[in-house]
Amino acid sequence: MNTKNVPLECAEVEKQIKPFLDWELNDTDAERFINHLHECPVCKEEFAIQYLISEGLKHLEDGSAFNLNHEMGIRLDSSVANINKRRVYNRVMIGLQVVSVFVLLFLCVFVLY
Ligand SMILES: [Zn+2]
Repeated sequence: MNTKNVPLECAEVEKQIKPFLDWELNDTDAERFINHLHECPVCKEEFAIQYLISEGLKHLEDGSAFNLNHEMGIRLDSSVANINKRRVYNRVMIGLQVVSVFVLLFLCVFVLY
């Protein structure tokens, strides 16, 4: 794809397709990437082509059927699910840390007085 006249955001998204497919993007970048794909048919088509090349070849090798749109949807949804799971986990961990600090403070006050 010629990236000369494409907005910068599209050029960045295009560069992130391979790292996204290899699960190498961090959550923030992956989320921006997915949101951009939902809004930009040009990048979505480029993603579909690269997805077809990377995943379609695997299916050719093992001889199984391949539905591009279905498989692509699953891949994008599982990224969103992973991002959401990590977000919930992080919130729980922060909550536990806050609780731990209060327990420690309470124990300090309790022991000192
Ligand atoms: Zn785009």
